[in-house]
Amino acid sequence: MRQTPQREAILKVLQTADRPLTVEEIWARMEKRRSGIPTVYRNLERFVGEGWAESILGQDQIMRFVLCRSAHHHHHLSCETCGKMVEVDACGIETSLAGMEALSGYRITRHQLHLFGICPSCRAAIEG
Ligand SMILES: [Zn+2]
Ligand SMILES: [Zn+2]
Ligand SMILES: [Zn+2]
Repeated sequence: MRQTPQREAILKVLQTADRPLTVEEIWARMEKRRSGIPTVYRNLERFVGEGWAESILGQDQIMRFVLCRSAHHHHHLSCETCGKMVEVDACGIETSLAGMEALSGYRITRHQLHLFGICPSCRAAIEG
């Protein structure tokens, strides 16, 4: 895929981020800021559609974006204390999905599942 300098700049920010970032945070960290926040947002939505990134709606109702490292189906696990996020390679809900299809009559084509918890370093700090 052809990368515009704008898309490259967004990807670079996501690649070096240690946690999911809001559009404003991404925009503020971009080197080549030739367009406004709405354009950055549109590009991010496109990344999500292409499977390069994932959008996460936080408990604060603010949307944040994170880069997906694995190309195949996976889920995300976020720390509710520090915001650190990891990818979990297993899905494990295929059986439930088949049950939901049977119940609803829908053919389920995709799903998003975001898990929340407390990461090992925050657990160590809390539990001592
Ligand atoms: Zn992902
Ligand atoms: Zn944490
Ligand atoms: Zn899954």
